[in-house]
Amino acid sequence: TTIRELLAGGNRSFSFEFFPPKTDAGEQQLWRAVRELEPLAPTFVSVTYGAGGTTRERTVRITGRIASETTLTPVGHFTCVGHSRAEIRSVVGAYADAGVRNVLALRGDPPGGLGQPWVRHPLGLDHADELVSLVCELGDFCVGVAAFPEKHPEASDLDSDARFLARKAEAGADYAITQFFFNADAYFALVDRAARYGCTIPIIPGIMPVTNVMQIERMALLSGAEFPSWLADRLHSVESDPDAVRAVGIEVATELSSRLLAGGAPGLHFYTLNRSTATREIYANVAPSPVS
Ligand code: FAD
Repeated sequence: TTIRELLAGGNRSFSFEFFPPKTDAGEQQLWRAVRELEPLAPTFVSVTYGAGGTTRERTVRITGRIASETTLTPVGHFTCVGHSRAEIRSVVGAYADAGVRNVLALRGDPPGGLGQPWVRHPLGLDHADELVSLVCELGDFCVGVAAFPEKHPEASDLDSDARFLARKAEAGADYAITQFFFNADAYFALVDRAARYGCTIPIIPGIMPVTNVMQIERMALLSGAEFPSWLADRLHSVESDPDAVRAVGIEVATELSSRLLAGGAPGLHFYTLNRSTATREIYANVAPSPVS
């Protein structure tokens, strides 16, 4: 099944994102989270692609296992970082061989690190729109892309970033998933901006359950997402009590998710960080028919 078909039905999409672990213990944690989330029958689950090295093969292997051993529909991410066109073709081929036809096509972060200028592989691609075109040429894949409610950190302004999202849709992208954010209006504004550039593909908001103050502050800094002072204040006021931090995180994500769905978002994509509990709690608060 393609995500395109699953989204076309007009049903709300609920999806969960995982990352490829580096250790055996991490791998056990991942499969535990996958098995615990499987009964919620999400629309799809996705697995991120590392910046380099062996985790990349793991992404393809894990996605293939999800396709063959679970009832879930996996989406495999991949990026242009450090890849020639030929290598990109072979990654796409490896996904197809593993039975994965749904992919998320990303440029990836600058190989020199965030804040450094983007450098493409000498025989590679510059932007995700080119990657979308290449994947679409290679076969019948359903392709998702990234979107940024508060703009991508390298983008000069919100409008140009929305125009480039529209370009990814023109190149053949079927849907987009956003970076995480805490301000629902930023999401609705992105949907409107994209529509002004003719981009009407479903834009699924990405939800980050906050369970740890330092971790979320670091992530927000890296991703360029705004970490609003009202949220910082709420979290810092209970900082010494991990259970209270978690409770605030769940409450904030639930409020955000409810506002997004009420405002017409086509679904929710949860960044699980390979853990299931927080995601299950938020899901139970907002899903149409909570699974007990
Ligand atoms: P692009 O769409 O190419 O955009 C990059 C920058 O270039 C933007 O500033 C944009 O405005 C600009 N731009 C876009 N197209 C053009 C063009 N044609 N001409 C000029 N400028 C242009 N990273 C990973 O390494 N692995 C992952 O698995 C991963 N998964 C992600 C999942 C989601 C849902 C999201 C939101 C991000 C993910 N990322 C991942 C991070 C992503 O790779 C980075 O944010 C990266 O810096 C941008 O990728 P992109 O696909 O949006 O790039």
